Amino acid sequence: MKKKMKVNRRNFLKSSAFGVLGAGAAVNTGLYRKEENNLSSQEKGSPKIVQYRTLGRTGFRVSDIGAGSIKDKGVLEAALDAGVNYIDTGEQYPGHHKVVAEAMKGRDRKSVFITTKLQIKKDKSKQGFLRRARRCLEELDTEYADCIMIHMAETVETLRTQGFHDAMDELKTEGRVKHVGVSNHGSFWFQDPEETMEKVLLAAAEDGRFDVFLMAYNFLKMDQSEKVLEACRKNNIGTAIMKATPIAIYYNLKSSIDKMEKENKDIHPLYAAGLKRYSDKVERAEGFIKQNNLDNPEKIKDAAIKFVLDNPNVSTVCCLAKTYTEMEQFLHLSGSRLSGTERDRLSKYEQGCGDLYCRHACGLCEPHCPQGVPVNTIMRYYHYFNAQGRESEAMHNYASVPGTNAEVCRNCSGPCEKACPFGVPVQGMLLTAHHQLTLG
Ligand code: SF4
Ligand code: SF4
Repeated sequence: MKKKMKVNRRNFLKSSAFGVLGAGAAVNTGLYRKEENNLSSQEKGSPKIVQYRTLGRTGFRVSDIGAGSIKDKGVLEAALDAGVNYIDTGEQYPGHHKVVAEAMKGRDRKSVFITTKLQIKKDKSKQGFLRRARRCLEELDTEYADCIMIHMAETVETLRTQGFHDAMDELKTEGRVKHVGVSNHGSFWFQDPEETMEKVLLAAAEDGRFDVFLMAYNFLKMDQSEKVLEACRKNNIGTAIMKATPIAIYYNLKSSIDKMEKENKDIHPLYAAGLKRYSDKVERAEGFIKQNNLDNPEKIKDAAIKFVLDNPNVSTVCCLAKTYTEMEQFLHLSGSRLSGTERDRLSKYEQGCGDLYCRHACGLCEPHCPQGVPVNTIMRYYHYFNAQGRESEAMHNYASVPGTNAEVCRNCSGPCEKACPFGVPVQGMLLTAHHQLTLG
């Protein structure tokens, strides 16, 4: 094991020159052709973080490239060695606290900002939150967390969970937590169309008890997020961004649809029609990508991260790297700016492929579903499965999805799809998601 790590670390440092690792980062099927890891523009030695930004009123200077829930200890160590000093984790990421604890061994604890998250569950008592928070600290093997967040606050009411705040006050007094935060990357319109990400996070900004937000923001999802980021600037709240690259989800679409079509010979006509609308849009996007020389997904991903970094109200972008090469690609983006050419590339991408992205934290179509399907939540799990390689977590989440799952989409005429202002062929996407997330 030790030997393997050594080899990986060496390769991480040299991979700019040889471009041999992390094929998963660049080898894709579907819309994109298989291609070699192309790091030619980045062959400038091992990349380091070159920019730190103040995380709102915490005053902590965090690296502009932060660490999302990186599961590989070696990759996380390499990120920390390169100067990454913001780590996002949470009690619901299986085994991740321990990965962070291992990667932090022997390092200066004060130099890294570690955030963990607690879900608001049935037990809303102060004692319940204290117990869970202490377990997180134990797993993280740390005296304190820099920040504990409410994970995925669904409603304004959730923000005001008294037991959580009482527990945090006690932990602050004990010196075991420094700041409180909140995360949100989805809305539950099928339950309550009033409770958008924008509404919840704007209320959190006004509330005054939340010092850091973890939220969805990308070049295809700007409207709600930019309002929230502006409120963060006014209230001096630190911002960590997730879902910054809404493109990877397209990698496997075509092969998924082909597989579905092959495996479902006798399907309901409405099912076939939904799948066809989806498939047609994927084909159109594929043609557009070829015509406009957009067939290097890594370049689009880089531009997407730079787009987020260009917003001065962003403190850090949480990047999810599975390999050393992916981490290295993220590190190269530290301190970089979005060029005019890259802006054009993103704009073209939106034009040709934007309708294949179900916007994180949207949900506008959900009230139109007669069955109460949580469209946006299911599409988020589909994103975890397809774009982030979090297959088992996505399947586990889907097994206990709130509301009705997407099996009911098989013989529906798709009113949700008609209601989507972004033209997302969501019925076919839901059917494909159901197929993948249940292996059914
Ligand atoms: S399908 Fe369209 S309206 Fe529905 S959640 Fe996705 S982006 Fe929003
Ligand atoms: S396809 Fe029909 S059942 Fe499925 S989410 Fe849309 S409206 Fe609801």
